[in-house]
Parts: sequence; structure tokens; C-alpha cells
Amino acid sequence: MADLRLPTNSIVHPDKDRFLSEVNPFEAMMARFDRAAELLDLEPGIYKVLRNPEKTIIVSIPVMMDSGEVEVFTGIRCLYNTSRGPAKGGIRFAPNVSIDEVKALAAWMTWKCAVVNIPFGGAKGGVICDPLKMSMGELERVTRRYTSAIISTLGPDSDVPAPDVNTNERVMAWVMDTYSMHVGHTVNAVTTGKPVAMGGSLGRREATGRGCMLTTREALAHLGMPMKGATVVVQGFGNVGSIAAELMQAEGCKIIAISDRTGGWVHRKGIDVKHAMAYVQEHTTLEGYGVGEPIANEALLELECDVLLPAALENVITTKNAANIRAKVVCEGANGPTTAGADAILDEKGVFVIPDILANAGGVTVSYFEWVQNRGGYYWSEQVVNDRLKEIMVNAFGEVLKLSSQHKVNMRTASYMLSISRVSMVHKLRGIYA
Ligand code: NAD
Repeated sequence: MADLRLPTNSIVHPDKDRFLSEVNPFEAMMARFDRAAELLDLEPGIYKVLRNPEKTIIVSIPVMMDSGEVEVFTGIRCLYNTSRGPAKGGIRFAPNVSIDEVKALAAWMTWKCAVVNIPFGGAKGGVICDPLKMSMGELERVTRRYTSAIISTLGPDSDVPAPDVNTNERVMAWVMDTYSMHVGHTVNAVTTGKPVAMGGSLGRREATGRGCMLTTREALAHLGMPMKGATVVVQGFGNVGSIAAELMQAEGCKIIAISDRTGGWVHRKGIDVKHAMAYVQEHTTLEGYGVGEPIANEALLELECDVLLPAALENVITTKNAANIRAKVVCEGANGPTTAGADAILDEKGVFVIPDILANAGGVTVSYFEWVQNRGGYYWSEQVVNDRLKEIMVNAFGEVLKLSSQHKVNMRTASYMLSISRVSMVHKLRGIYA
């Protein structure tokens, strides 16, 4: 295994470690991948295969803007690994989209789908643009031209996008329509996260938050801590954070702090989540909410609590603040909220981390259910969706926990070990096509 850490296709500085940024998403993902690969004693050949994306497409997207001028945007789609099934992963529209980020997120999707054992590979896409400065017409033209530019990879059997940062069910409807127009008939299984009226799944909107609640409930049970009365701090009060908070409150947890991009509110007696959600519905953000005391996002992360749910951004728990985290359990609702450097500090403190690829896999699991329903042309009730989601999340948590105690590693390393062993097993069985 001596060559396990050798770079394959990436340009690596001779003094790599010194230049390795704590927050580079691809390096952050690879640091975890390497540790798990080493523990699994992964064959060097398979290691090389899994350390590289299968395909990364970069396209120019010329678009006629409302002003009458032509603008050219850059779009990316990365299929990281499709050995277990069609590539699955979101499309994001943002000015800071980069190839490194898209590749890292595509790899993350590969491990996430494998950890919950759904038959998908991993992908991610993005368009470098500022959607907040664009009209609906411009967004539609960017979406359709991007879809058309990557059409050769798309398809229910090959690559199935979903919403991500700054894209939504409206955008998925355009992707699905553009693809369907190209192939000449309606193919609703080409995307997930669609409006329910055109084949979206019931329960999809709540799925990621529900998965966070379910894995937190399993973690607390394992640690012998009651769910009832457990204190919870939530960073990010959007889709994931607010729904996880609502469902945790319904299970008896006390939500003592919430925040969004405008700052946070701490109230030791407990925040009424439905009331806060109604406030955000009316005012867009938590600004001026006024229940309890205001608190900055950085200080909120360091509050004493049973459960901390980072559900906003990546890289919020770093080597700078990890020592100050006073939660007993961290449930990673967001993708990549903890840096690789911070992992060791949290371990030393005995914090039980439910890693992102497990904690927030509820969303992709119900996306899989949506694809299954589209392909079968038979739709499930919300209860059926929720029951099947629970079964998958609870099983996955149990499998990761078992591996973590067998190998005496934390839950993150165990999650990577489980997913990498699943993906590598399929590679071994399929062999290398020559
Ligand atoms: P969202 O846009 O609905 O909500 C994001 C929330 O984070 C908002 O309340 C926003 O105000 C807040 N926020 C933004 N900047 C912040 C800052 N600097 N400090 C504190 N809060 C800030 O997004 P979402 O769908 O809830 O996704 C949240 C995270 O979960 C992202 O990392 C996303 O990649 C991840 N995730 C989402 C899903 C899903 O199904 N929605 C699935 C897996 C992972």
C-alpha cells in the first residue's frame, strides 16, 4: 500500500501538505477518502480508479440577455463514478462555482448514495452565474442551453440531476422539458426534485430534515441520551434546518437556538419552531425575530447543547473553533460543515459526529424514490415514502455504527469505509474493460 497516497492525475505541489488548504473541498473530501482507503487496505488499482472522476464536461453557454446582448456562461457537469448505477447529483447556479468544488461534491454524492445503499453513482453540476441578478427569462435560457450542452450525459439510465444551491423545482421542470423535447417524448425520470404535479415525490421537501432527525434519534439512543428534553442548536433555518428542527421538536427536543444568514436567536426556554417558520415565511429571514437574545453565527456554534445541527454552509467547524464546540452530538445537515483538520479535535473531545454523507442522505434517498416512482409510473403515499426513508436511514446508521465499533474509528471514517467498500466491490466484480 506504499503508493496509496501518490497523486494520480492532479498537479500536486512537492510540499503538498503545507499548501493543502483546510477549506479546499476536493482535498477535504480526499483526506477522508485516503484514511478510509488505507484502513480498508484498498487495492492500489481500485484506489487510483476511485480517486479520479470518470468524466468532467465543461461547456460554454451563450445566452441572449434581456438587454439584447449575448453573455457566455461556463457550465460544468462532473460524473464522478457510475459503477453502481446512474449518476445522481444536483445542479447549482452561483458565481463561485469551481471545478474543484463540483468534483468534490460529485465524489461526495458517490459516497452518499453508497452509504445508504441506493443504486446510484455520484455527479454534480454547476453554472458560473449570479442568479440573483438574472430575470426568470434569463434563468430559463441558461438552464435550457446548459441542459442542451450536456445532453449526451443526461438520461434516466445515465445521469439524473436534482436541485442544489439557487436551483429549484422550477429549474428541474425546465431541465426535464428540454431533455424530453430533445428525445421526442416525455421522460420525467431524467431529473428529481420536480414539482409533485409533474412526477415529484411526496415527502421530498422534508426528506433531508427528516433524515437528520432520524439519524440524531439513533445517535442519542446509542449514547443513552433521551430525545425528550435534548437541547438542540440549529445553524441555517432553510429547508434542511427548519424541517429538522420542527421534526426534532415534535420528538420532544428543545430547540434553544436558530440562525440564518442574518444572525441567530438563543432562547434557553425553547423556541417554537412552527412560529419561527411562520415568521420566516412572512419576513423572508429571521432578522428582527425577537424571541430570546440575538447571537452571532460564530458564537451560536459554541453554545452548550446536546445536539448541534450545522445546516447552512461548508467549513464552519474548523481547526480554529473545533476546540470550543460544546455539543455532545453534531448532526451534519449541510455538506462539509466540518473540515478534515477539525475532525481530530472533535474526536479528542469525544463529540459524536453524524457525518454529512449519512446525516443528510435523506434527500437523495427520496430522490431515488422519485426516480423509482417515475419509472414504474406508480405513485406512493407520503406515509409509504416516510416509512421507506426511515427504514433506509436507520439501517444505514446501524451499519455505519457497527463498522465504527469494529474498527474503532469515528462515524465519518466508518461511513467512508462502508461506501468505498461498496463501490470498490462493484468495480472488482465488473473488472476493467479493455
Ligand atoms: P436553504 O437555502 O433552504 O437554507 C440555507 C439556510 O442557511 C438559510 O436559512 C440561510 O439564511 C442560511 N445561511 C446562509 N448563509 C449563512 C451563514 N453565513 N450563516 C448562517 N446561516 C446561513 O438550503 P438547504 O436546502 O436547507 O441546504 C442547507 C445545506 O444542506 C447546504 O449545505 C446543502 O448543500 C445541504 N443539503 C441540502 C439538501 C436538501 O435536500 N435541501 C440535501 C443534502 C444537503
